Amino acid sequence: MQIPFIDLKTQYKTHQTSIDTAINNVLSHGKYIMGPEVNELEKRLREYIGVEFALSCSSGTDALLLPMMAKSIGPGDAVFTTPFTFFASAESISLCGATPVFVDIDPDTYNLSPTSLEKAVREVLREGKLTPKAVMPVDLFGLAADFNAINIIAKENNLFVLEDAAQSFGAPYHNKKACSLGDAASTSFYPAKPLGCYGDGGAVFTNDQELYETMVSLRVHGQAINGNKYDNVRIGLNARMDTIQAAILLEKLKFYDHEIALRNSVADLYSQGLRETVKIPHVPENQGSVWAQYSIQVNNREKLKTDLENQQIPMAIFYPTPIHLSSAYKHLKHAVGDFPVSEEVAKKIVSLPMHPYLEPDTIKIITDAVLKSQS
Ligand SMILES: *Cc1c(COP(=O)(O)O)cnc(C)c1O
Repeated sequence: MQIPFIDLKTQYKTHQTSIDTAINNVLSHGKYIMGPEVNELEKRLREYIGVEFALSCSSGTDALLLPMMAKSIGPGDAVFTTPFTFFASAESISLCGATPVFVDIDPDTYNLSPTSLEKAVREVLREGKLTPKAVMPVDLFGLAADFNAINIIAKENNLFVLEDAAQSFGAPYHNKKACSLGDAASTSFYPAKPLGCYGDGGAVFTNDQELYETMVSLRVHGQAINGNKYDNVRIGLNARMDTIQAAILLEKLKFYDHEIALRNSVADLYSQGLRETVKIPHVPENQGSVWAQYSIQVNNREKLKTDLENQQIPMAIFYPTPIHLSSAYKHLKHAVGDFPVSEEVAKKIVSLPMHPYLEPDTIKIITDAVLKSQS
């Protein structure tokens, strides 16, 4: 039997009746774009996270783009982010016309290092070529970044804080939840994310009404809000979420907390089995992970890959190339050694199968295989 890396089929089978009904309701009422489920989902999302406004949209990437466009972040602006993330974090900054300025990560949480952020801001100011405008901390693998420290630095330097919460929807952080930790937050409902729909989807969260209203306009081609629909007041996007995806997410949100509890049990079993042999994930005090990935660091990754393949155990590498070394960012003229922690982690990181339906027996097979390979 092949062990799945993530198991969306079991999730669907477990909740098939309610999900099918939700989809069929949309097919019947026929409001495929901006149907009633979209509004309902936005209400549920903002209640769940505990913020004033939630705006659903077409993907996590557009969810990053919308607040930056609304803030008129563009050419000549520096947006600080980590090079150890999914490409879309940096890409969305470039799509706005701004420049991603990379900041190295913390070696234990893999999230943006506040100390390195402070240095990077000073360096940009000293060079005088770009204006520091925003910081985009990424909550990697389901764990929120160090927002208590980052928000202080941001305030001192007048930076807009955009939380890339694509992997961390609702992750606990000091009595708050991921998606509420900066001035705005962006999440993704791509199927493989902790809360996934059956296609592309995303959402932006904020307590800032003006920002929210600008994003409502940007989401539909910059149309005037409360005015003539055909008077376009700014250049926007087609970035709406499909009604069918909203209907699916409404159902999945109902059992999200239960699934996160199950993911935590899986993570605990992995950590119990592996902590003596490999570097396991570190979850700081007063925080929790939603376990988008369970990632370990190993010294002999090639051997582990072969050994796991031989036992038909899947693994994945997030991310093998830090973004500053990717071909698309050659023009920034970065070199190996610029962000040593990101580069080192990129060489050693391995993500193991992670989903709420992973059985203890299967976890044992996987941990045994890792222990044997690395001993
Ligand atoms: C998945 C992801 C995105 C992009 O989300 P999409 O819905 O695929 O557009 C952005 N940032 C991070 C960190 C992600 O993991």
